[in-house]
Amino acid sequence: MSIDDDYAPDSVSTTTSLTIGPELIARLSLVQTQQIASRKSSNEVLLHNDAVLLTNRSGVAIFLRFDGNVIVWDYDGLSGDRRDPRVTEDIEQIAFGVVSGAKELQLPELRELLPKQPENASGCRQCGPERIFYNSSQDPDEWTVCPFCKGLGWTVDSIIC
Ligand SMILES: [Zn+2]
Repeated sequence: MSIDDDYAPDSVSTTTSLTIGPELIARLSLVQTQQIASRKSSNEVLLHNDAVLLTNRSGVAIFLRFDGNVIVWDYDGLSGDRRDPRVTEDIEQIAFGVVSGAKELQLPELRELLPKQPENASGCRQCGPERIFYNSSQDPDEWTVCPFCKGLGWTVDSIIC
C-alpha cells in the first residue's frame, strides 16, 4: 500500500504553514490585486497562486500564499539561473519574508502569523519587539530584518552557536 499525502496527519502539513484568518485574507486579496495591476516582475507567481509578494530583495522574492504556505523564488547560487518557485519550510526564511512583508506592505498584523515565543526562549535583546534594524543613515527605507532572531523576535539560547 502506497503512502498517500491525503492520509498524512494534519500536524505534518501544518508545521510550517501559517494560519491566516479571513479578515487578513480579505486584506491580502486587495494587496494581490494591486500588485498584479502594478505589473511586478513576479506576476507569474501572483497570477497562478492566491498569494501576495512579501518582499523582493537581493534577487530573492518571497510570497505568502493564502493557504499559509510561503513561496520562495530565487536564483541558483552556482548557475545564476532562476529556480522554480517553491514552498519553503525554513522557518528563518519564512520569518524573514513575513517580517519584511509586514514592513513593506504596512500590514504589521502579518507578524502575528509567526510562531509565538516558546517557553525555553527569551525575547531578542538586539531588536526588542521591532524585529527589524534601521541602519544609521536615518533613511526610513534603510532597514534589515534582525539578523539575531531572524525576525522571530525571540531566540533559544541553546541553538545559538
Ligand atoms: Zn531580533
